[in-house]
Amino acid sequence: DVTATKGNEFEDYFLKRELLMGIYEKGFESPSPIQEESIPIALTGSDILARAKNGTGKTAAFCIPALEKLIQIIMSFKMMASSIVILVPTRELALQTSQVCKELGKHLKIEVMVTTGGTSLKDDIMRLYQPVHLLVGTPGRVLDLTRRGICNLKDCSVLVMDEADKLLSPEFQPSVEQLISFLPPNRQILMYSATFPVTVKDFKDRYLRKPYVINLMDELTLKGITQYYAFVEERQKVHCLNTLFSKLQINQSIIFCNSVNRVELLAKKITELGYSCFYIHARMLQDHRNRVFHDFRNGACRNLVCTDLFTRGIDIQAVNVVINFDFPKNSETYLHRVGRSGRYRIEQELGAEIKQIPSLIDQAIYCR
Ligand code: ADP
Ligand code: MG
Repeated sequence: DVTATKGNEFEDYFLKRELLMGIYEKGFESPSPIQEESIPIALTGSDILARAKNGTGKTAAFCIPALEKLIQIIMSFKMMASSIVILVPTRELALQTSQVCKELGKHLKIEVMVTTGGTSLKDDIMRLYQPVHLLVGTPGRVLDLTRRGICNLKDCSVLVMDEADKLLSPEFQPSVEQLISFLPPNRQILMYSATFPVTVKDFKDRYLRKPYVINLMDELTLKGITQYYAFVEERQKVHCLNTLFSKLQINQSIIFCNSVNRVELLAKKITELGYSCFYIHARMLQDHRNRVFHDFRNGACRNLVCTDLFTRGIDIQAVNVVINFDFPKNSETYLHRVGRSGRYRIEQELGAEIKQIPSLIDQAIYCR
């Protein structure tokens, strides 16, 4: 059962005191199930392929063992540039993951760097003149830096692939495979994903060594999230959204559209309706995107309209409503979109309180 923990404590893993302090200061009291499964195994140096639902704490499941390994490397005075590399599919996720690393590693003297496409390559090259211990980035940019000899993966002892199914989609797979060829023979690979498509299984068979496969998915449904649907004509969608806004108790919401143009258009309409609204999509400049993302995260605005750029791994605790304004392209997209709400689930699984879902059903909305 995914909800059942073994009752382990973080102390049980004999982590360095400084790391343990970071974990507790982040507010984690005890490990979540995926952390209980992966931390001890990752600490042994084994490769891992792990699957667990959205919001179950996968980030810390790889950050904690990676940071512990980093401390050991630093203490042994070995070469330490780019000792840990974390690959993620989007820039926003890279920023978020680096933040988690910095927080957990708050008491460690480590340099964390984010490197993603769409930002200045020159700046990244400059920053890599200083030793960076932990690099979080998207595959294309990390490969670029590696090929130029700026980033040296021969000292990389742990490679993490978060959202591994996405990293193995045609868009990223060639870069990821080339990156692997730069790794030293004794590297450890940790792969995390909410779904295990055949691409992931193939990759595991080709590149992972005697991997531990952890599968905590009992079902693909979104436990803890109440889902509704509404029948609406295209021209009534905005009206329906307005009704929802007036009936729902929205803490923060994310509204998904299928194209950049529709995102911009809808954001404009929502603002005209008198609701605060940001938008984010891939055609915006990176600095702008970062700013919007951080401001939304900090609660500067209640609603965010976006494309699927934003669906994976992003964790914003305050989001309690996700609206699929446009129908998602496939069921996996749906899962990832809807998984942006219900980030409280981990709290529920760990016995903390979870807010009551507001009743909102009127004639236009059907509950299943
Ligand atoms: P996933 O990658 O599995 O979707 P995240 O790593 O983004 O999930 O974590 C979801 C949320 O749960 C985050 O807000 C994170 O801080 C929180 N969390 C993770 N591990 C724990 C823990 N052991 N105790 C309490 N909260 C946790
Ligand atoms: Mg994640």
